[in-house]
Amino acid sequence: MTQAENLILIHYHEVGLKGKNRGRFENQLISNVNKTLKNIEIGPIRRISGRIYVELTPESPVGVIRERLGWVFGIANYSEALRVDNDIEQIRQAAWAAAQKTTFGSFKIATRRSDKTFPFNSDDINRDVGAYVQERSQADVRMTDPDLTCFIEVTTSGTFVYAEKFPGPGGLPVGSNEKAVSLISSGIDSPVASYKIMKRGVTLSFVHFHSQPYTNRNSERNVEELIKHLMRHQFKAKLYSVPFVEIQRHIMQHGIEGYRVILYRRAMLRIAEAVARRERAHCLVTGDNVGQVASQTLMNLKAIEDVTLYPVLRPLAGDNKDEIVEQAKKIGTYEISIEPYEDACTVFIPKHPTTRAKLDDIHKTEAEMDLDALIDQTLAQTVVKVIEW
Ligand code: ATP
Ligand code: MG
Repeated sequence: MTQAENLILIHYHEVGLKGKNRGRFENQLISNVNKTLKNIEIGPIRRISGRIYVELTPESPVGVIRERLGWVFGIANYSEALRVDNDIEQIRQAAWAAAQKTTFGSFKIATRRSDKTFPFNSDDINRDVGAYVQERSQADVRMTDPDLTCFIEVTTSGTFVYAEKFPGPGGLPVGSNEKAVSLISSGIDSPVASYKIMKRGVTLSFVHFHSQPYTNRNSERNVEELIKHLMRHQFKAKLYSVPFVEIQRHIMQHGIEGYRVILYRRAMLRIAEAVARRERAHCLVTGDNVGQVASQTLMNLKAIEDVTLYPVLRPLAGDNKDEIVEQAKKIGTYEISIEPYEDACTVFIPKHPTTRAKLDDIHKTEAEMDLDALIDQTLAQTVVKVIEW
């Protein structure tokens, strides 16, 4: 190598810890980085031990690449770096070049050496390069809280030098784990719940229940927009759009009034479970939050979940509303969620929903209904769409 190479160096999060699954996780991460940067001018993506890097060309739009890598689950942090030969003179020059991108009054050099054949150890390199940068910058060397930290990684695939780390979202690469089905409304909570489960490497399919023609199409459109936004992490997903009016009408006519919401939710879970079976998914996901609304008392959550053997993941169970709103803003779903819409349930909600649903009562009232046939019919009328990023 005669000239330093410009690249983006990516450090993984838990990916590196996964023992013999490591290869699969790394391949998934590389594939996801590739898809995230599609249509963007970059050089090859390479893998070296414990890291991957994206080579840049003079035309590469670094700002766009930086923004997009912030979406890729599994990335712990990433940096614009220079790669040079394992040669102390080249390392000095690269460190000085990286340092000069900012102004600083104090700095330190932080070296990690995995290539043990390199004749200098980490302390030697810190001292040598530190003296080089100090002489040219006249800045102070400071070990704690310096203005600038210049990182040097000496590996068997060359030395990487960079002065700034951008945080990635962490988690696990989407597609590296199994599948789940997320019940998504156009509210604030369920998109955040979906995000959190995707961040654990899970691939989601979505189910949305709408009450057309009693509501307009806004909830469906909002949901599609929300999923499209979330697909910056997963690229594409199926949305099962379920016409829920017949079931709601039936429950209104036959169910105990205070139990209506519980009965709607049970029907939703049964349909979501049928979708999960079709999708070969193993869990359901909701945005439920303990105590937030009447259907979310512990007793009612139990009465709702009784209808399915599938685990229901509720990643927001213990969050405060303001914490959820903050997360929604951070991941970019908040603005879409607060668009006006009519919720399937608000139209059919009773005045005095129970907070203490008893399973005996539920089983009795459901036994008098004809839900099985209605659920089959509803599934047959469900529309499946593929939503892409
Ligand atoms: P959200 O903000 O997600 O709507 P919420 O706090 O308004 O949640 P509920 O409306 O009681 O609470 O819904 C609880 C959960 O049930 C939602 O997070 C979602 O997972 C699911 N859910 C509710 N309504 C629908 C719907 N129309 N379609 C799909 N899932 C729904
Ligand atoms: Mg809601």
